[in-house]
Amino acid sequence: MTDAIKLSIVVPMYNEERNIPALAERIVAACAALPFRWEVVCVNDGSRDRTPQLVRELQQRHPQFVLVDFARNFGQHAAVSAGFAHSRGEWIITLDADLQNPPEEIPNLVKQFEAGHDLINTVRQNRQDTFFRKGASKITNALVRKLSGIRLNDFGCMLRGYHRDVARRVVACREYKTFIPALASLFACRPVEIPVGHAERAQGESKYPLHKLFSLQLDLITNFSVQPLRLLFVAGILFAILGMILGLALIGARLVLGDAWANQGTLTVMGVLLFLSGAQFFAFGLLGEYVGRIFQQVRLREPWFVASIERPGEELERPAGDAPNPGTGRYPRA
Ligand code: UDP
Ligand code: MG
Repeated sequence: MTDAIKLSIVVPMYNEERNIPALAERIVAACAALPFRWEVVCVNDGSRDRTPQLVRELQQRHPQFVLVDFARNFGQHAAVSAGFAHSRGEWIITLDADLQNPPEEIPNLVKQFEAGHDLINTVRQNRQDTFFRKGASKITNALVRKLSGIRLNDFGCMLRGYHRDVARRVVACREYKTFIPALASLFACRPVEIPVGHAERAQGESKYPLHKLFSLQLDLITNFSVQPLRLLFVAGILFAILGMILGLALIGARLVLGDAWANQGTLTVMGVLLFLSGAQFFAFGLLGEYVGRIFQQVRLREPWFVASIERPGEELERPAGDAPNPGTGRYPRA
């Protein structure tokens, strides 16, 4: 075929075998009427079920399906980023494999691309998640908006559109543990935000247990703002002033009220000390979080690597640039 692929749909998949048939059917139906070539880039994020086999089976019927097969589980945002790197379309739409993002919205996003937007942000209407999930998102969304200055209403919706140029810059960051919608916002020239539908997960369980969810929200906050560090600085000054006032008050009380009072005040002093040491531990913890990130970033490790890419009718591709070097066991730098 001569005409180039216009649209790539990137889908990260982690143990999604039960969703793949319906997902594929609905994507194909939603894209059938599009007047240009499209592809679906399925990134298998180290699934332990039959996810990659099912994608290969799909390829028999629908040659638009590409399988990017990760060597192991690297996480949803690494998978999306790999999808960006190995997709060929000028426009990229990402969506979740569990059908929470209706594929029927694809034409609506395409319209926004046609109108010239290079980043299509979305806000989930009638969000179908647990009360806890929605509450957590609300807090993080508000916090990140305030701290990072990125004015988005729903950072977490993964049904989004990215122009190739924006996606390329996201990939070029080679950022460890990132949050793609927020990162992409830094590179968009003509962004737009539109409402999209949302559904309950069709099959299977959420791939985000509590600890992973917490880690993801923390990624979003700490990757896009250093304000928490500044807050720490201010809090440190406040604690120090408070400590000084308390110390002076205690000395004053000792002088005025005498020995007997001071003995009884031992607990107060201990309380104050505990309070201050608690605050210090908090400070160390938060500093540690940033130092850890600096450490991860300066190592310039590959945030992910692809074992193989399988496109129907083409030779198996083993991307040399981002595959581990078998000779040294080290990952070559790009
Ligand atoms: N996912 C992934 N790698 C992971 C976790 C999730 O590729 O380590 C994919 C998953 O298969 C799904 C999408 O990311 O397509 C969103 O995951 P999920 O629906 O479990 O998240 P939730 O909707 O609960 O936030
Ligand atoms: Mg989901």
